[in-house]
Amino acid sequence: MKNIFTIILSMTLVLSCGSQEKTMNSNEDIKKSDSNSKPKLVVGIVVDQMRYDYLTRFESKFGDGGFKRMMREGFNCKNNHFNYVPTYTGPGHASVFTGTVPKYHGVIGNNWYDKQTKETVYCAGDDKVESVGTDHMAGKMSPHRMQTTTFADENRLFTQLQGKTIGVSLKDRGAVLPAGHTANAAYWFHGRDEGVWITSSFYMQDLPNWVKEFNASDIAETYFKVWNTLYDITTYTESGTDDNTFEGGFNGKEKATFPYDLQALREHNRNFEILKATPYGNSLTTDFAIAAIKGEQLGEDDVTDVLTLSFSSTDYVGHNFGVNSKEVEDTYIRLDKDLERFFNYLDETVGVGEYTVFLTADHGAIDVPNYLRSLKIPAGYLNNMATKTRFEEYLLRTFNNSDLIENVSNNQIFLNRKRIDSLGLNINTVTEQFVNELIQYEHVDKVYSAKTMTTTDFTQGIETLLQNGFNQKRSGDIILVPDPDYISYGKTGSTHGSGLNHDTHVPLLFFGKGIKHGATFEKTVIPDIAPTMSALLGISFPNSATGSVLGFVID
Ligand SMILES: [Zn+2]
Repeated sequence: MKNIFTIILSMTLVLSCGSQEKTMNSNEDIKKSDSNSKPKLVVGIVVDQMRYDYLTRFESKFGDGGFKRMMREGFNCKNNHFNYVPTYTGPGHASVFTGTVPKYHGVIGNNWYDKQTKETVYCAGDDKVESVGTDHMAGKMSPHRMQTTTFADENRLFTQLQGKTIGVSLKDRGAVLPAGHTANAAYWFHGRDEGVWITSSFYMQDLPNWVKEFNASDIAETYFKVWNTLYDITTYTESGTDDNTFEGGFNGKEKATFPYDLQALREHNRNFEILKATPYGNSLTTDFAIAAIKGEQLGEDDVTDVLTLSFSSTDYVGHNFGVNSKEVEDTYIRLDKDLERFFNYLDETVGVGEYTVFLTADHGAIDVPNYLRSLKIPAGYLNNMATKTRFEEYLLRTFNNSDLIENVSNNQIFLNRKRIDSLGLNINTVTEQFVNELIQYEHVDKVYSAKTMTTTDFTQGIETLLQNGFNQKRSGDIILVPDPDYISYGKTGSTHGSGLNHDTHVPLLFFGKGIKHGATFEKTVIPDIAPTMSALLGISFPNSATGSVLGFVID
């Protein structure tokens, strides 16, 4: 009946305005209103620590079926950014799938200090659930600290739980947070001496047979290869020299240079853990994702299923070797091959044009500061001990007290409110005094109080990013911003967490069913992704989504 009504309506429009363009639009509306036009499967891909410029830097090395296929057939949002700090993995995954920022979804870090329990908590940790698939506590995970729904949750509600959701990642938080609260399952890799995919009792009591079979097949074992560059290393002109002082490397090998004999190195690098920090961790993730599609019959019927797929090895490799390393370049060349294999599998099973994919990242990364310094770019390493000592001396001198601080983490200071009260001091006065003290310290660029974050409406710059990352209930009393490119990290490898462009600017590619072909330099932000997917599916937005629908990517 609905279709007949729509057809009559479109005929009326044709008759009333007589324009060819209107006819086309109306026909498109008919197509869109048909439930059969929805994708059978949505795959949300997050590449951990992928900077936007990797798409352009390594483009000449990519094949036709991976990243380039997404750009060739789909839509490329070239100016896509995180709009909050801190740019870490937990908040990143939560923001991509909930369509909002830590201020609202509550995942303010990977770990944070819980003001109520006075303990540090982990974003995906959950003591109330049990590990499934291992006796190790690595399975005690759930999304309970994420306070809002994901678009996959909304798809579950819309389809009366007929549409499935499965989350897959080497990292627990990369699997658990994207899949949301109503997921059928989230699976992650437990390395160490086991090398198996596991889950938690939040989802089920026992692993399904297809997961048991995958674990028993010893596929992970087959990846203990010699890691050498896929192509001749002399052709890797998009990255720095292989042998330099800016890279970490593996235990048991003196230099961070190719080749890496993983079979020989495994005993020095916690066995299966070493695979995570090689491109083979992404290949193993692809193998498991394909097994999940098969095992769960994802995309087989007309009710949309959701697979969230996070590639974590890129982050481990980046942390170890740095963004300018040959190891990172090789990891992306090989990830491109894994993506091609994955898309080919989707073509064969779900069908060409029957699925929709988006690809983004959970944060970017900084060039190794010592490398930047060698090129005279202002950058460096924070001396947290010196800052701490100086501040403690200040506390003793001014308040004759050294226990006014409860915790310092994620560039935030949590005050000991009880102690401050007991000394008869006013919390706001003390906070302002601390702000005025700390701004004088070396490499402290900006300092803000929680009060400023909750009483000022910022509209641009780092202050807006801080505000979006600030959760009144969970965040600290004072927020520090270091000088640009000054980090708390070892002297080798890359990290992330800031509001600077190298950490915020990440790819956003859409392709497949319902997606237009094109590209834009218009600024988009990470929270736009989930509402856009909701619009594409014609379902409710995640309950606290603050992003906008990117109407120009939808066909
Ligand atoms: Zn990282």
